[in-house]
Amino acid sequence: MSERSVRRCSVADPDPRRRTLLRSLLGVSVTATLGGALLAATQLARGQTLTREQRDQLTPEQVLALLKRGNERFRTGQMHPHDYLAQKRATLGGQYPAAAILSCIDSRAPAEIILDTGIGDTFNARVAGNIANDDLLGSLEFACAASGAKLILVMGHTACGAIKGAIDGVQLGHLTELLERIKPAVGATAYSGERSSKNAAFVDAVAGTNVRRTIEQIRVQSSVLAGLEQDGKIRIVGSMYHLKGGRVELL
Ligand SMILES: [Zn+2]
Repeated sequence: MSERSVRRCSVADPDPRRRTLLRSLLGVSVTATLGGALLAATQLARGQTLTREQRDQLTPEQVLALLKRGNERFRTGQMHPHDYLAQKRATLGGQYPAAAILSCIDSRAPAEIILDTGIGDTFNARVAGNIANDDLLGSLEFACAASGAKLILVMGHTACGAIKGAIDGVQLGHLTELLERIKPAVGATAYSGERSSKNAAFVDAVAGTNVRRTIEQIRVQSSVLAGLEQDGKIRIVGSMYHLKGGRVELL
């Protein structure tokens, strides 16, 4: 994707109301002292929506740290009281999400809640077994190359039904083809115990392999995203969400 087309795809101008909100929240002198990146972190940590400038000043590492902090709030029951209507209004003029998350459709693993993010904070791609096909790669390319997200977080989870289906060789309509994308992870998982979907530890080990394979596919099949990563503009990180305990573990 050329720089020109990236610029053309870029989203609209920041909503001035967000800046006003931030100024009234922290004060101009504090703004100058804190610096942009820390300010952006504070903004997100308070459940406010990022402006383009704030998002652009964050490094991929800082975005990852923000998501980790959000997960900590989630699993300790200290989530922000998100004002979704205010966030909806603040993002009317454009969106400046800091990260793109590729996760499973499992109803128990909703990324925005697990990471305590709000409207406008993250792009969210969900597909059974968090696999990457051409359409998902295109979505991630839009999120990072066109819209400026700094981080791709691939998030698998424990007790994943899609992983169990791939282990069992389930055949059902279009699901059959989807599970074919996961199956190589089953064979590629080194495991000395019982290699069946009845063994939770094996299922979770395959889920970990599947996350790593998805990341590898992103790097190999998307020259756009691989280039952004090589230039240090984005990071691509794997993770596993533990249904028990609620922790998002980085792989
Ligand atoms: Zn799943």
